[in-house]
Amino acid sequence: MRIAVIGTGYVGLVSGVCFSDFGHDVVCVDKDPAKIEALERGEVPIYEPGLDDLMARNVEAGRLTFTGDLKAAMEGAQAIFIAVGTPTRRGDGHADLTYVMAAAEEIAENLTDFAVIVTKSTVPVGTNRKVKQTIAKANPKADFEIASNPEFLREGAAIDDFMRPDRVVVGVQTERAAQVMAEIYRPLFRRDFPIVTTDLESAEMIKYAANAFLATKITFINEIAALCEKVGADVKEVSKGMGLDNRIGNKFLHAGPGYGGSCFPKDTNALARTGQDYSVPLHIVETVIEVNEAIKRRMIEKLRDLCEGSFNGKTIAVLGVTFKPNTDDMRDAPALTIVPALVGGGARVRVVDPQGKREGEALLPGVHWLEDPYKAVQNADVVVLLTEWNEFRALDLKRMAKKMAAPRMADLRNIYGTKDAKRAEFVPFGQ
Ligand code: NAD
Repeated sequence: MRIAVIGTGYVGLVSGVCFSDFGHDVVCVDKDPAKIEALERGEVPIYEPGLDDLMARNVEAGRLTFTGDLKAAMEGAQAIFIAVGTPTRRGDGHADLTYVMAAAEEIAENLTDFAVIVTKSTVPVGTNRKVKQTIAKANPKADFEIASNPEFLREGAAIDDFMRPDRVVVGVQTERAAQVMAEIYRPLFRRDFPIVTTDLESAEMIKYAANAFLATKITFINEIAALCEKVGADVKEVSKGMGLDNRIGNKFLHAGPGYGGSCFPKDTNALARTGQDYSVPLHIVETVIEVNEAIKRRMIEKLRDLCEGSFNGKTIAVLGVTFKPNTDDMRDAPALTIVPALVGGGARVRVVDPQGKREGEALLPGVHWLEDPYKAVQNADVVVLLTEWNEFRALDLKRMAKKMAAPRMADLRNIYGTKDAKRAEFVPFGQ
């Protein structure tokens, strides 16, 4: 099968590469010429473990190409995936559908033979119908179907998630579209990964409901962490004891500095707005959004306390700034709220992040980028552990403490626990 994928970001590129690995003939399209040029040189414009090798293998096999020319990419394609961004719209919190609708218009202009237009981008309920209307209006003779196929991959584990998904969700209106989708995902169905075939609206809603639920779970444990600190409980132990209950599960149950990233903040906002539009306020989701913001502010106040009331003149080493490990994605990372508060408060901030510098340099002005955590803590007053990269999971705390002017550690990811911190003679810092 020949497939065109519009958008070569975290989702579009991984999808295109994996579809080609399934054996399909894939053309990835992007508006950004720099991205296409890099891809044509064999360079992956994002950091995603394993993506470079898989991409090279499929390019070599002749199944994967890149272009800026949508018309050429669509030639002979039986499926055209829309995998462009749907960020938060400025001002009102709704999902910004500008890129999706622009892609729909461009598809309409170039559609000559039958194809299924598949929305992989996360879009509010009703968007797939709008895509259909837009194409039908711009090109009344076009023979096409639409499908909603939301993506659930996690950055940092994207290939494994795509190749071994918990489920594939497909929303369709006709059997004809369902058959094309089944053909695309056949290699997965053969291996018994579940497929949920449903209507368009349910498919669109599944994605938002799933993300809002996970954001809620994280926020729940973050609030419990604040109470643990007051009552003398250890949130790490609490989370372990809760997570072993199969009905709860241990994933997304680790206390931290608040959720961030390219999906949860914008998707919870968009879902809450949809609820308001339909006069069905989603109180839980709205509260989660509010509490998550408060958690980030709370982290700043806790850091200020650790700095004895002021950041001014302090040297602070920050370990990790990407929104999670194994990605270079900085979108809505908690670091974007926390680090500027430190710099703005007069601290000298040193940052170490295995992949964050390329994106982070422009976003975090006034910080010094270093590569070695032990160098970063030299004569520092405080070390803040903000992203749980593997490199930061087995630090020699005693060695670090000895290098610091004052051994104070804010382990915002709860990697080390109070006992480890005390053993290294760090000033204790609860969650
Ligand atoms: P991204 O910003 O990394 O990539 C979007 C790409 O689309 C960019 O390269 C941009 O240049 C390109 N683009 C925009 N309009 C275009 C057009 N008309 N023609 C060609 N290219 C165009 O976005 P992303 O993180 O890959 O997210 C894409 C969608 O997938 C979003 O809706 C997001 O919510 C959803 N999603 C993301 C993730 C994730 O972990 N990033 C996971 C699941 C779902």
